[in-house]
Amino acid sequence: MKRRLLWLFLVLVASTFVYGSDVLIKNVLVYDGSGKKPFKADVRVKGDRIAAIGKNLAAQANEVVRDEHGLALAPGFIDMHSHHDSGIFEDLDAEAVSRQGVTTVLVGQDGESNFPLGDFFTRLEKTPAAINFASMIGHATLREQVMSKDLYRAATPEEIKRMQELLGRELQAGAFGLSSGLEYENGHFATTEEMIELSKTAAASGGFYISHVRDEASKVFDSYEEITRIGREGKVPVEITHIKLASPTVWHMAKTCMPGVFEKAKREGVDLKADVYPYTYWHSTLRVIVTDRDFFNPEKVAHAIADNGGAANLMIPKYTPEPAMAGKTLEQIAAAWKVTPVEAYMRMIKATENEKPGEEQEEVIGTSMSEDDVRWFIANPRVMFSSDGSLHGAHPRGAGAFPRVLGRYAREEHVLPLETAIHKMTMMSAEQLGLKDRGRIAEGYVADLVVFDPATVIDQSTIQHPDAPPKGIPDVMVSGAWVVTDGKVTSAHPGRVIRHGTAPSK
Ligand SMILES: [Zn+2]
Repeated sequence: MKRRLLWLFLVLVASTFVYGSDVLIKNVLVYDGSGKKPFKADVRVKGDRIAAIGKNLAAQANEVVRDEHGLALAPGFIDMHSHHDSGIFEDLDAEAVSRQGVTTVLVGQDGESNFPLGDFFTRLEKTPAAINFASMIGHATLREQVMSKDLYRAATPEEIKRMQELLGRELQAGAFGLSSGLEYENGHFATTEEMIELSKTAAASGGFYISHVRDEASKVFDSYEEITRIGREGKVPVEITHIKLASPTVWHMAKTCMPGVFEKAKREGVDLKADVYPYTYWHSTLRVIVTDRDFFNPEKVAHAIADNGGAANLMIPKYTPEPAMAGKTLEQIAAAWKVTPVEAYMRMIKATENEKPGEEQEEVIGTSMSEDDVRWFIANPRVMFSSDGSLHGAHPRGAGAFPRVLGRYAREEHVLPLETAIHKMTMMSAEQLGLKDRGRIAEGYVADLVVFDPATVIDQSTIQHPDAPPKGIPDVMVSGAWVVTDGKVTSAHPGRVIRHGTAPSK
């Protein structure tokens, strides 16, 4: 009897080794990513792929059956603008990401990326995370390589050429295209022509251009003109990332002005898309509001503060030189220091002069978007979803953006149908990236999957508790392995590096 048990045990171990953990997911409502209405089915996963979708599939030998009792099954969500790579090697579970049902993040955003990308990819392949990583290559990163610290000017033709060579090499390594952060000081002094020339290199490898545009406040529509021109002259698909109208001067203009922006691009043959995160407040550095670095010009600073919603709407979650100020608004800090908000701003910039990108000593959360504009972007068919979030960041988007779209905007407020929301966070994003085997529930596709309850799914992260995990997402699978089951991370790390232009792996 004992020998028989041992034999059975050995067979089980061996079969797991040979077949991987094949799974039959029973009784799910399948949102397949196409945007069509859901249907009831069972889904079979063999190894890392979806092997069958059908009614009443019978369990096969060596198959683990998981009955989901009618919950929804969707392709794993794709985050089109993420900073979750920062600190990933200290947090390989990436719970903030996986528990949202996000299985792939696109990093290297706002003009800053890991460099060289090959080194980051190799490290990730040696020490995989729970989630998949894809990356853009950052424009400011290229500038830093070529122009060193002399960044507050336009690049010369020779420097642009050198950047193109580096960009070409990084695209070969698997980058999906070029990212820029033209509102940040290391990218801001680039001319439109510099961006067009670099975009041509991205286009030559089938990549695209994604941009935190030059001005997201009162001059935002000039920025949309600029990105459309970059798309037209660079002959490259373009994406306005974390799209927002972030100044009272442009509030409520999404409905009236955005259709014209998209139509003009279409007329000019430009593939213009965008991504959005579902919040009326952003999170960045204080420097971003005075883009030309004229930080000690009182008139410009006063205009910048007003243009971003005023000192009462700029909350400082982090200020290293005086940690007691963290959590106060710029208005409150000015009152505490008995100075004007303009003077308080200048004092904070001066005290943090030596900070570097990625190692900021100050941060700001600015509440300067209007809810009706955010909703318009969420509903628009040319807009995908992103978090712009980080692991353990100060903004709740890092742990809540995707369930917030599903629970708050789709279910509670009917801003868009659930199947459309899922399409925009799966298949549409996969197509933007040119991924041929992700973003859909179909036979042969990679088994990146999320099980959620449409009746309860919701974000719970807030500014007070930015890491609070969402509700209603019990199970998440990456490449055929569960990374979340029953709402808890499994500490499996099946995440992969997804390189641009590589044939679907078998
Ligand atoms: Zn940004």
